[in-house]
Amino acid sequence: MRPYDVIRKKRDGLELSREEINFFVNGYTAGEIPDYQASALLMAIFLKGMTAAETLCLTEAIRDSGTRPDFSDIKGVRVDKHSTGGVGDKTSLVVGPIVAACGMTVAKISGRGLGHTGGTVDKLEAIPGYRTALSGDEFARVVNRTGIAIVGQSGEIAPADKKLYALRDVTATVESLPLIASSIMGKKLAAGDDVILLDVKTGSGSFLKSPENATELARVMVETGKAAGKKTAALITDMDSPLGNEIGNANEVAEAVRTLKGKGPDDLTYLCRMLSANILVLAGLGSEAECLSIVDEALYGGKAFDKFAEMVGDQGGDPSYISDTSLFGRASATKEFLAVRDGFISGVNAEGYGRTSLILGAGREKLTDGIDPLAGITLLKKRGDRVEKGEPIAILMTSDERRIFPALDEIGKSTFYSDEKPVIPPMILGKVD
Ligand code: URA
Repeated sequence: MRPYDVIRKKRDGLELSREEINFFVNGYTAGEIPDYQASALLMAIFLKGMTAAETLCLTEAIRDSGTRPDFSDIKGVRVDKHSTGGVGDKTSLVVGPIVAACGMTVAKISGRGLGHTGGTVDKLEAIPGYRTALSGDEFARVVNRTGIAIVGQSGEIAPADKKLYALRDVTATVESLPLIASSIMGKKLAAGDDVILLDVKTGSGSFLKSPENATELARVMVETGKAAGKKTAALITDMDSPLGNEIGNANEVAEAVRTLKGKGPDDLTYLCRMLSANILVLAGLGSEAECLSIVDEALYGGKAFDKFAEMVGDQGGDPSYISDTSLFGRASATKEFLAVRDGFISGVNAEGYGRTSLILGAGREKLTDGIDPLAGITLLKKRGDRVEKGEPIAILMTSDERRIFPALDEIGKSTFYSDEKPVIPPMILGKVD
């Protein structure tokens, strides 16, 4: 079998066999198939799609591409939440500690920034010393000790996803249902969780923007999880506007900390509480209302914050940054983005806000790029807020002053105004279970 033939078959819209998918995924993971051929296959999948059978084979190939951590001696229910990607989405930093504080076990494998969206791993790495690359054994040790660990895709657990994810990020092949579904479920099944709650985003800041496509993605992933014997459900949630007021890395960690202290923005706090409650429902702790009160006790009683601080310390991070987030400091260059007219912010292109953050240095353009942890955006006004001409809507932050003007241009194009107050959709638009 040759990589060329697999690429050509998919290019021509034909169904790949399990052998062909395994051959390609294993060859690419082992470094035998080069990036340029993997990029070509990703683009062919992006353009031609995959059947349900192919998507399942790709998911299983990713799952089996590395070792599976041995969690057999871990007590309790292993739960996880995974988002399909959004702008300002720091829910993992809040939901993980909340449910761990409620007695669940969280062994989470997260991703880096992808396309216009930020990644949990990049955010956590803004904390000096925090290690996102743990061996399978170390990962299990931290989970056993603390009840929660959040790591990145590694050379050991689902390594195929680590490579494919990074390649998709720079080859415009992110927004593909089979590639998203296999990436997420391959990792989740490798980690061996018992309960998987998927936060499937829809709207301008998500990858699959229409509610129909988001629901189909949710359905595919929920079916994959259930077929593997996992308790799986998905919430379809609004990503037409960034979540919370911070977009970037260090500033998102700081906002997650405020939320864990009960002082977060309403949209983020509400979504984190609902995601946490739905995890507990899947784990069998009661009805949604009962689980919400368990969650609120952990959140507002301070246990969730303590759990986050403990996790950061256990993964090598400096916990003083969690007790005092001003230690992160400020980017050397900042600029206010001002309203161009009186009225309401009728809506934003959340993808454009994500791109603005990337332009400022919070994400990557090439595989080898580093990121600027202090780059990003603080939103002072959001969809539905009234503004007056010249009033600041956002603060742009970067360590490279030359990035300010292209970023202002992007955020300006992504902000819309109206005379009437717009109707804001609910945060949770549906559920697939
Ligand atoms: N999150 C992932 O892990 N993979 C994707 O493809 C998108 C979001």
